[in-house]
Amino acid sequence: MLKARAAVRNLKEYHPPLGNRNGLRLDFNENTSGCSPRVLEKLRSLDGEHLARYPEREPFEAVVAAHLGVGAVELLLTNGTDEAIHLICETYLEPGDEVLIAVPTFAMYEIYAAATGATVITVPAGEEFRFPTDAILSRIGKRTRLIALANPNNPTGTLAPAPDLLRIAQAAPQAALLVDEAYFEFCGETLLPQWRKLPNLFVSRTFSKAYGLAGLRIGVLMGNQEQMHMVRRASSPYNLNSIALACLPEALADSEYVRRYAAEAGQGRDRLQSALGSRGIKYWPSRANFVLLHLGGACKPFIQAMRERGILVRDRSGDPGCADCVRITLGTVEQNERLLTALGEVYEEIAVNSSMEQSTP
Ligand code: PMP
Repeated sequence: MLKARAAVRNLKEYHPPLGNRNGLRLDFNENTSGCSPRVLEKLRSLDGEHLARYPEREPFEAVVAAHLGVGAVELLLTNGTDEAIHLICETYLEPGDEVLIAVPTFAMYEIYAAATGATVITVPAGEEFRFPTDAILSRIGKRTRLIALANPNNPTGTLAPAPDLLRIAQAAPQAALLVDEAYFEFCGETLLPQWRKLPNLFVSRTFSKAYGLAGLRIGVLMGNQEQMHMVRRASSPYNLNSIALACLPEALADSEYVRRYAAEAGQGRDRLQSALGSRGIKYWPSRANFVLLHLGGACKPFIQAMRERGILVRDRSGDPGCADCVRITLGTVEQNERLLTALGEVYEEIAVNSSMEQSTP
């Protein structure tokens, strides 16, 4: 048998709970209504000639750069944000370097960083999952080469103040600061294009969430042009397939689709939060298309009872600081309505069951 590198042998395994996902998908923060019809139309028009050619990424990078108002040399299209994170790690990390992440957060920062042989330092979020600015600042050292943060964060939905992120970038000029804006469309706050002042800053975006294209795998990594030149070296010239590239301009052109979907998910989030508040269920106010709630002992029965109603929600109990927590994604107005109805029923059911348990000697 071949021996994998020690860093790989020691990696945590990450198995997203895919499996049977028939039902209302409120478990992966995806777009729950699919993608723009313009993208589907484009897909139907593609032929064998299109598939036979190697994909050419650059013309599409120019389209995305114009859409985002940045230079094409400041941007790289990636195979989802996952690849953006991977490329940053490949470009900047040597074994023994230090990487800072604020937990709980998205799993792939730790995995890609650790795979290089770097040491991952986890900084716990503050009270109420507040962004731990001072704790991060205090852990920055000479060996810090990457700080990777999701903003808004997943699974908490909390947002780090932009000035704090800029302070961190300033305090660690020897490190890349990756600000992952996967949920930007639901929140509207961005650090783009602050890398023009702080060249160690990178910002990433994705088409997997609001755009409804998680299956096509399209992400965007942006940063200072010289830094991006180096990151580009580490990437395959064909990292995006030609189907994804062909669909990209259509997805961008239908900005109304994304705007409407984000507005509906945002409305659903506000309604869910007030329903939770009025029932006294602990939750953390979110700036994304999902809400994290604490259900205590009712966590597993809640997930099961929702599944019985055809609604999938995500158990986040295994995340640091998230014992007995569930994350629920919001969707369209109708789907959110269905969620709230089910939530009411399940709440009654679990409340009744637990009071019965308590009254049993
Ligand atoms: N970043 C964050 C914060 C996420 O929550 C996710 C998906 N759960 C990703 C990145 C992955 O995005 P992509 O599909 O673009 O790889």
